[in-house]
Amino acid sequence: MDTTPIRKSHKLHNVCYDIRGPVLDHAKRLEEEGQRILKLNIGNPAPFGFEAPEEILQDVMRNLPTAQGYCDSKGLYSARKAIMQECQRREIPGVGIEDIYIGNGVSELIVMALQALLNDGDEVLIPAPDYPLWTAAANLAGGHAVHYRCDEQADWAPDLDDIRSKITAHTRAIVIINPNNPTGAVYPPEVLRELLEIARQHDLVVFSDEIYDKILYDDVAHVSTGALAGEDQLVVTMNGLSKSYRCAGFRSGWMILSGNIAKQRAADFIQGLTMLASMRLCANVPAQHAIQTALGGYQSINDLILPGGRLLAQRDITHEKLNAIPGVSCVKPKGALYAFPRLDPKVFNIQDDQQMVLDLLLQEKILLVQGTAFNWPEPDHVRIVTLPWADQLGDALDRFARFLSRYRQ
Ligand code: PLP
Repeated sequence: MDTTPIRKSHKLHNVCYDIRGPVLDHAKRLEEEGQRILKLNIGNPAPFGFEAPEEILQDVMRNLPTAQGYCDSKGLYSARKAIMQECQRREIPGVGIEDIYIGNGVSELIVMALQALLNDGDEVLIPAPDYPLWTAAANLAGGHAVHYRCDEQADWAPDLDDIRSKITAHTRAIVIINPNNPTGAVYPPEVLRELLEIARQHDLVVFSDEIYDKILYDDVAHVSTGALAGEDQLVVTMNGLSKSYRCAGFRSGWMILSGNIAKQRAADFIQGLTMLASMRLCANVPAQHAIQTALGGYQSINDLILPGGRLLAQRDITHEKLNAIPGVSCVKPKGALYAFPRLDPKVFNIQDDQQMVLDLLLQEKILLVQGTAFNWPEPDHVRIVTLPWADQLGDALDRFARFLSRYRQ
């Protein structure tokens, strides 16, 4: 019998996605043994009692009998029309039906877009910390993720000098995640304009991941990057139903191309995108029936983020409790579903943050994700999902504080 190991492809050598990494496997084993684990590791609203709006569910159920066939590779016409109208509301100019691609979540479209753009060795500027799928997808496509630092002292704004210093002849694109996962930062228009100016000077494609654009706290406004870009800049905006509409399991997201003059120049890239979209035939059709209703009319997410809203209360208690732990500091998240606190290295002795979250899991039965999983270079941050009820979060953070008191130098 041949015992030669069957190995994974070398294409996967620099690809990792540790949000669902080895520590989660450990948590699953503990659950199989009957232990209760509080999972604060994944931004999945449904298990925490956040239900999708009823009208969305009705749409999907009513349309199920007619959603049996494949649809156009870019998506249902009615759904794309609704996304086009959303672009008009968000002031992203010049977006037509053919500029919109619907995917099985933003995740599929991130992978697809980077596969279509990158040649071996091409570089993509990606924030640190990042949502790690961007880094994984750039590397999988044969490219090289180059991380630009976001500055915790400046509310996690992108460090523009760091970006400039990392641009080379190989840089093809820049990724902006706004509102940001994991930091909760929401970038003001001035910052976006500066990022766009850098991208324009160096002819970079701009990817703007805006999946949390409606999860905003404290009256902060979200401005779409595409609304500020000139016609000569190609902006690829990503958004979807998973977070604001609480139906991550439906796997429904979209990608929008804007910049009318740039699109002419990008015809070859766009043809590549269209071909990749057709290779996977189409996105899940039943879920596309939710898009028109989701985007139009009453936005139930507002009830969760305005004063008295559940998400706002949970953001507040997380922020408060974290900052009350000696040696821990947390910038107040202005959007999204996460907190990304700093654990002061002068206070805590953390050499390996994955080991630290594993120790936390074993000792306190709480699952977090270590900062380095978000391509943050030092082992001094963790990400906490702010989805559980406030009392559950309060209890979890008390346990985290107790755990950290043992981790002190
Ligand atoms: N982009 C960001 C910033 C995310 O946080 C996530 C999921 O957590 C995604 C994209 C993927 O979303 P989807 O469910 O649409 O694939």
